[in-house]
Amino acid sequence: VPVEAKGIMEVKSKDVSAAEDTEDEIEDNKKRHLNVVFIGHVDAGKSTTGGQILFLSGQVDDRTIQKYEKEAKDKSRQSWYMAYIMDTNEEERVKCAPDIWVKACLSGIAYGPEVVVLIFQGHKSYVPNMISGASQADIGVLVISARKGEFETGYERGGQTREHVQLAKTLGVSKLLVVVNKMDDPTVNWSKERYDEIESKMIPFLRSSGYNVKKDVQFLPISGLAGANMKTRVDKSICPWWNGQCLFEALDAVEIPQRDPKGPFRLPIIDKFKDMGTVVMGKVESGSVREGDNLLAQVKVLAVYCDEDKVRRAGPGENLRVRLSGIEEEDIVCGFVLCGVARPIAVVSEFVAQLQILELLDNAIFTAGYKAVLHIHAVVEECEIVELMQQIDLKTKKPMRKKVLFVKNGAIVVCRIQVNNVICIEKFSDFPQLGRFTLRTEGKTIAVGKVTDLSA
Ligand code: GDP
Repeated sequence: VPVEAKGIMEVKSKDVSAAEDTEDEIEDNKKRHLNVVFIGHVDAGKSTTGGQILFLSGQVDDRTIQKYEKEAKDKSRQSWYMAYIMDTNEEERVKCAPDIWVKACLSGIAYGPEVVVLIFQGHKSYVPNMISGASQADIGVLVISARKGEFETGYERGGQTREHVQLAKTLGVSKLLVVVNKMDDPTVNWSKERYDEIESKMIPFLRSSGYNVKKDVQFLPISGLAGANMKTRVDKSICPWWNGQCLFEALDAVEIPQRDPKGPFRLPIIDKFKDMGTVVMGKVESGSVREGDNLLAQVKVLAVYCDEDKVRRAGPGENLRVRLSGIEEEDIVCGFVLCGVARPIAVVSEFVAQLQILELLDNAIFTAGYKAVLHIHAVVEECEIVELMQQIDLKTKKPMRKKVLFVKNGAIVVCRIQVNNVICIEKFSDFPQLGRFTLRTEGKTIAVGKVTDLSA
């Protein structure tokens, strides 16, 4: 997050005094910090668009682009060079056949002066990563391929367009920018009919997934590969019918959600390593952290790094590395949540949740004893449904009177869930980011849920 870090570094160079703390805090609140997650079917053009954003916003120089272009050409993958920007190492690039692209799924990249962009690669088995990506995002960019046949494949059953949209909604991505990509493709050729067809098919689906299409969804056509309608509006000679915004304008106009730097400190740990002590990584979901803070009984913050830069303090929404003393790396498990002494997080092995059943494997029934894998913030744990408590009427949204023993696809049900190991979670109503989850079996998302009660 280079830009963010720059802002904070200036603060660091000043004399540190208590009086300035409040100033920092006011300053931090003014900072524009937007987390964006790219979602969509594999090959829709997420990486290409991401690479193009980097290029157009001046984050990659011409020489590097030429190098990628040459490399891509040598491997007969000319059209992939933009996507190469998103890749970090040679080994991953070699593997980048479309459907097995297993690049690390989230790269924090910066667009323009102030926006943080998170990228997700659309391979099926990477949905769990999308979950952690989306739970960090304020807005989703849903990339759809307009190329003949590709929109259809992504959209039909088993395609990732639907699954990603449903997950994004449940994971709290409240706004979507739907970019209809590959408009330059010969099968599309900036056709208004094709664009309208995709928009009109997507709208009812987005609505049924819970999006208020008028307020929270915006469509626009682009070519990620050609960089058209991205930094500047598409030329009328190419697309005479488009009068709306380009992608950068649309991202610039996104309102940043308010974050409370004074809330209790919460940082779910997504990675850890040893480097002159114990270092943990993750995004601050709530509150702030600064050097010298005491966390648990003996754990103390030695240093805070935002991207490569050491910063004095960091607030909500920042992706950090935090160097700690008083705890060994071996004692930390990913999924632990770093929090302050004053209001520690709940640690439970059982909780109550409201679940929405999406699609059970082979139309199985969902009942007590059902086992699945729970994905909640950075936690992945096996769990078991121990009791179905109440079914919610889909029309009235109220609990139904009659006792519930099993439910099927589409049902909403309140149930008690048990996990094998203790986990750190919060009630959805207190901390949405730490209280929403998905249940998966055999690599498929079968339900999404919200934690409604914590019991020991
Ligand atoms: P991802 O799996 O969603 O990240 O998709 P990629 O960015 O890897 O793109 C998949 C393929 O679609 C690559 O061959 C790209 O060159 C191609 N592609 C992506 N965007 C465009 C575009 O705007 N126009 C055309 N014609 N091809 C594109």
